[in-house]
Amino acid sequence: MSRAFNFSAGPAALPERVLQQAREECLEWQGARASVMEISHRGKDFMRIAAQAEQDLRDLLKVPDNYRVLFLQGGATQHFAQVPMNLCTPDQSADYIVTGAWGQKAVSEAAPYVSPRVAVDMQASNYTDVPASVRDVVDPAAAYVHYTPNETIHGVEFHAVPDVGDVPLIGDFSSTILSRPLDVSRFGLIYAGAQKNIGPSGLVLVIARDDLLQNARARTAKVLSYAAQAASDSMLNTPPTFAWYLAGLVFKWLRDLGGLDVIEQRNIEKAELLYACIDESGGFYRNSVAIGARSRMNVPFTLNDSGLDGLFLQESEAAGLLALKGHKAVGGMRASIYNAMPVDGVAALTAFMREFARRHG
Ligand SMILES: *Cc1c(COP(=O)(O)O)cnc(C)c1O
Repeated sequence: MSRAFNFSAGPAALPERVLQQAREECLEWQGARASVMEISHRGKDFMRIAAQAEQDLRDLLKVPDNYRVLFLQGGATQHFAQVPMNLCTPDQSADYIVTGAWGQKAVSEAAPYVSPRVAVDMQASNYTDVPASVRDVVDPAAAYVHYTPNETIHGVEFHAVPDVGDVPLIGDFSSTILSRPLDVSRFGLIYAGAQKNIGPSGLVLVIARDDLLQNARARTAKVLSYAAQAASDSMLNTPPTFAWYLAGLVFKWLRDLGGLDVIEQRNIEKAELLYACIDESGGFYRNSVAIGARSRMNVPFTLNDSGLDGLFLQESEAAGLLALKGHKAVGGMRASIYNAMPVDGVAALTAFMREFARRHG
């Protein structure tokens, strides 16, 4: 086997234990005498898988009873549009807090369905910081306030849930869900594409306060309606069954580890290792995000001499450290260190970075 440490931003590394279990169960899922991929989503075997996954997620995040958990399709991008379709009437406006590229995209995809008002845009900082507070700039009459708790491309993360008063808060948690405990009751709705911290692509997790689901505009197609999906337990049509199953294995893996407090400590340890390596490199490497807004999940960094970028990527890959090329919007490198990345993987990366700097500094 030559599985390497994979720093891909998404689809991203999955826990090895989960992949092994999926392999063991690939031909026959427990007593089903067929693979998970080959059985009806309405049969008792898959219904059990689906219900257990939801329960494990509810336990991990302590989801209150008045929130519905949905397992949907479309990617987070589709939900940029689905959120306004479902949460406001055509004459309402909604506020957006933009701290990076995904927040910008959320605004543009929402525009056909609502008047998005950009309440805060951190572009002047080149998306290297989050606002200290938003309470005073949020419109109390807005249908909701949308923000991106972790900007995957810019490596900028809110380390506290922003106070928006009584306006329902919507969070695109695609790249930080389950990386730490979360007070779900602070939110109107949370959504997250699966392929960073949950499972394979093709699945979106939605956690929605049930009273908000009554707000869908009249002409919303059923398949795009959160209320209709909730009424049919996310089985209005065929859900992405394999991704749902694999998400369930990831939730179980997190529970077996000790839950979100434990994974949070591990994520802090990994992020500290990597940022220390960058900050102590004497300027060889640099991360320009404000210290208090540095992401624990995605760590972009540049080399002082960008002429070495190609060599860095070539040698890191040869050393078993994959997918470190940064997003083109930021340049340089990016190490994504989601839940599934072990501390050993970050230690291997920092050892490589120190050695590379020693040879080329
Ligand atoms: C990856 C990502 C998206 C886009 O997800 P798709 O599933 O490709 O639509 C949206 N928001 C954030 C924060 C992301 O990290």
